[in-house]
Amino acid sequence: MPGDMMNVVQMCGVCKTEIATIQVKKENMMLSTRAQLWCPTCQAQRPEIRDAAGRLTAIQQEVETYPRIDAS
Ligand SMILES: [Zn+2]
Repeated sequence: MPGDMMNVVQMCGVCKTEIATIQVKKENMMLSTRAQLWCPTCQAQRPEIRDAAGRLTAIQQEVETYPRIDAS
């Protein structure tokens, strides 16, 4: 499926600083990786966490209707 891309935000696993946004094919999307990223806030290599860009916005839009559940 060409064009079936989505934005994924790479974040520091410790302080949650957004480090980069990457585009991946939807079928290749992995939100859990063992990759390490250099975090400029921590000044250290940190485990990478990923989140689908735009999902937070969608959650915020629904927050008036549904209580937010923090699954982490
Ligand atoms: Zn950090």
